[in-house]
Amino acid sequence: MRWKSGYSAATLGPSNTGKPMTDFFKLAQPGITELSPYQPGKPIEELERELGLSDIVKLASNENPLGPSKTVTDGISDQLTELARYPDGSAYLLKNKLHEKLGIDPARITVGNGSNDVLELVARVFLAPGLEAIVSEHSFVVYPLATKSLGADLTVIPAKDFGQDLVATSGAIHENTRVVFIANPNNPTGTWIDRDTLTAFLDRVPSETLVVLDEAYAEYVEEPDYPNGLELVDQYDNLVVTRTFSKAYGLAGLRIGYSVSHPDIADLMNRVRQPFNVNLMSLAAARIALDDDEYLSQSVRLNAEGMKQIMDACSQMGLEYIPSVGNFLTIDFGRDAMPIYDALLHQGVIVRPIGVYGLPNHLRVTIGLPEENARFIDALQKVRSAE
Ligand SMILES: *Cc1c(COP(=O)(O)O)cnc(C)c1O
Repeated sequence: MRWKSGYSAATLGPSNTGKPMTDFFKLAQPGITELSPYQPGKPIEELERELGLSDIVKLASNENPLGPSKTVTDGISDQLTELARYPDGSAYLLKNKLHEKLGIDPARITVGNGSNDVLELVARVFLAPGLEAIVSEHSFVVYPLATKSLGADLTVIPAKDFGQDLVATSGAIHENTRVVFIANPNNPTGTWIDRDTLTAFLDRVPSETLVVLDEAYAEYVEEPDYPNGLELVDQYDNLVVTRTFSKAYGLAGLRIGYSVSHPDIADLMNRVRQPFNVNLMSLAAARIALDDDEYLSQSVRLNAEGMKQIMDACSQMGLEYIPSVGNFLTIDFGRDAMPIYDALLHQGVIVRPIGVYGLPNHLRVTIGLPEENARFIDALQKVRSAE
């Protein structure tokens, strides 16, 4: 016979029905009520629906315009028969591949559902009410989100020439500062920090303060004095480097990234990580993508050419921009950029307004294929001549 547990209503005490509406915002952790939800780039389908346009160009989310590598789309198909199985929670094969291709010690790796996930894991391990994280003005919005969602304090250091001021950052660190977030290069400004500046900073950070170095765009940077964070983790135990497959590897839709840190930090992050935070297809795709050197170099080459195409067009139009080493360029319109953003939408071109990053006069455009860049340039010229 089957058993079920049951109570008579009376034994449960008086009923709550008819009580006034609950104010869930009052019940929520204070850090969370202060947050605004992350605003993603406008999806192509949404603009199609809203304006009845077709042939839309999306240059709004720093995605790889080449689409995924063919070796990946071909190579992951044999995973389809495995979908009933849980993925390898330890990401054994991917960690070995990262070791083989990039020389990373597997014990230092924590995998994430996008690097966003690992950024949150660092925050969950090291931040709490009464503790603090430091970020720069105009830095990636995910850092404040991760910090405030844990009820920790956030200190924002004013930017210097649109980039992170590491002297001011260093001066702001105190005993409750557990995490400093640095994006190198930074999104949405495209600014970057050279090796000497970064190591001089790292030499001065107390060992109890973690430095999270977000290298989402590292593969695109061709500057000779750009520091490779992966080469610094041996030297600085408090350094956590994050990388992603979303940008130069062309796998944003699969959500996979990782961090490289001291093995003890990786151990701690692995304790709070969901056991299967990275799915089966993503693990396989990332492994295959790491082997496709040709795709990676093609992505970097295409980006460099497209960057030049858009910079040249801006110069011709007399528009200033923030010089960028990423796969995007942030353009200054000298006044509220929202009307220009809207007018570009009507031309079927989606770029990214960055008012939430404290840059209401700028728009960020992702470097696309040559013909997509040309569509953007053409639309921008039309919009400006109509003013
Ligand atoms: C795009 C981006 C990431 C990558 O996020 P994923 O979660 O890996 O897709 C991380 N940091 C910055 C600064 C970015 O712009």
